[in-house]
Amino acid sequence: MMEERVRQASGTPSPRGASWIVYWMQQARREACNHALEYALARAWDMGLPAFVLFCVDPSYPGAGPSHYRFMLEGLEETARDLAARGIRLLVRIGDPVEELVAACGRAALAVTDGGHTPVQRRWRAEAAARCPCPLYVVETDTAVPPGMLHDRMAWSAAVVRRRMEPLLEGMLEPPPRLGVAIPGFLPDTPAMSPLEALAMLPGHPGAGPAGRIRPGSAAARAALGRFIDEDLDEYGSSSRDPARNCVSGLSPYLHFGQISPVEAALEIRNTGSPGAGAFLEQLLVRRELAVNFCARSPAPGSWGAIPEWARRTLGEHSGDPREYTYTLEDMEGARTHDDAWNAAQKELVTTGTMHGYMRMYWGKMILAWTPSPEEAFRRATLLNDRYALDGRDPNSTAGVGWCFGLHDRPWPGRRVFGSVRSMTRRSLEAKYDIGAYVARIESIAGEEMR
Ligand SMILES: Cc1cc2nc3c(=O)[nH]c(=O)nc-3n(C[C@H](O)[C@H](O)[C@H](O)COP(=O)(O)OP(=O)(O)OC[C@H]3O[C@@H](n4cnc5c(N)ncnc54)[C@H](O)[C@@H]3O)c2cc1C
Repeated sequence: MMEERVRQASGTPSPRGASWIVYWMQQARREACNHALEYALARAWDMGLPAFVLFCVDPSYPGAGPSHYRFMLEGLEETARDLAARGIRLLVRIGDPVEELVAACGRAALAVTDGGHTPVQRRWRAEAAARCPCPLYVVETDTAVPPGMLHDRMAWSAAVVRRRMEPLLEGMLEPPPRLGVAIPGFLPDTPAMSPLEALAMLPGHPGAGPAGRIRPGSAAARAALGRFIDEDLDEYGSSSRDPARNCVSGLSPYLHFGQISPVEAALEIRNTGSPGAGAFLEQLLVRRELAVNFCARSPAPGSWGAIPEWARRTLGEHSGDPREYTYTLEDMEGARTHDDAWNAAQKELVTTGTMHGYMRMYWGKMILAWTPSPEEAFRRATLLNDRYALDGRDPNSTAGVGWCFGLHDRPWPGRRVFGSVRSMTRRSLEAKYDIGAYVARIESIAGEEMR
């Protein structure tokens, strides 16, 4: 099982006198259920070498704001403690991650990384493979099934991923074997700082702002999962789409920052035997890994050109249609539209860093309906989602925004503005759910935040 997760990205020979092993923690910012960490430690044990973990904060990661840095680094503080409990040290650096990796690998026998699937992370891995002064191994631990195993090209729908994933899951949905012996603790002779010290020192992010209402870290992620299992999982299949109920896990920010493993979460959910487990695993595994497949296979996943050709064409044909309402980006950002449901969704995003999944669809579709051109609407939805959502910039956000514009969907009967891209209206939203209750819930959260 481990072997299928491991890929050698660079065969540069180890330098003479190699005396340590580096795990470049990148996406999987956790100690538990981390296949890359366990692989690095097992290699260190086999070679009789000490190992340490490197985490590099890029202070200019595209789209990252103060709340993202805070959520990430406060969570990492807990991970540093969890690693220390196993005798493993965490070296935190601020700077260009590839430069820092190369520097940390001075006398490394080998380096291991995990690596997420955004375009930036892909570029880092490619540069690291070209420049790393020792062998570099990439271990996939952000998905149940490594994207290369799941499909060698872009999947056009969830059905393709579901079909391919099913026979693989039994073998792949396993935590890594945990090394039961202690590796000698070690840090190279270089200035070290804790994650919280790094947060305070981030250039351009003094004090690095509030992270919203959600507590970061692996323990908080597990608590959220436990609460969800106890209170909401049984009804997930019937109620997860109802914005008034909020019958969802809230795991997305934790998954995005690698503070919980999708394998661990999926196994816990499966073991409950709950009637809601199937519907939840469809989202956590199939939908999430469809988004990863899209980001791993598309040359420029967050661009307008990544939207399917049929959808861009039909939206282009309807770009001159009169809009019932048009708003500026500033109107939208300030939640100043005629629609209290949309405004509530935008306020939920800004005040909590999250938005109910079904409202995300409505929110994105209405940005398309109320913006003068579809390309500009795509740009706005991406910008607002990435700026305010704690899980923004995730493969799910790239695919989620894309979905509003026709990605992973099929043509529907033609409508004004939308053409044959699936439309949504306030009336269709109200026909299904008690939107007044959703608006009241969010107004009360937003009101508390103002006090
Ligand atoms: C415009 C738009 C933007 C979106 N932006 C993001 C984003 O930035 N980050 C993000 O993770 N998701 C995004 N999604 C997808 C989805 O809305 C979120 O995953 C969901 O709201 C997360 O909340 P939750 O963890 O409580 O979900 P739950 O319903 O509890 O689902 C559990 C997990 O399953 C996965 N999941 C659920 N729904 C989807 C989906 N439609 N596609 C892919 N995976 C899914 C997520 O990993 C989620 O955390 C977006 C959707 C839209 C329409």
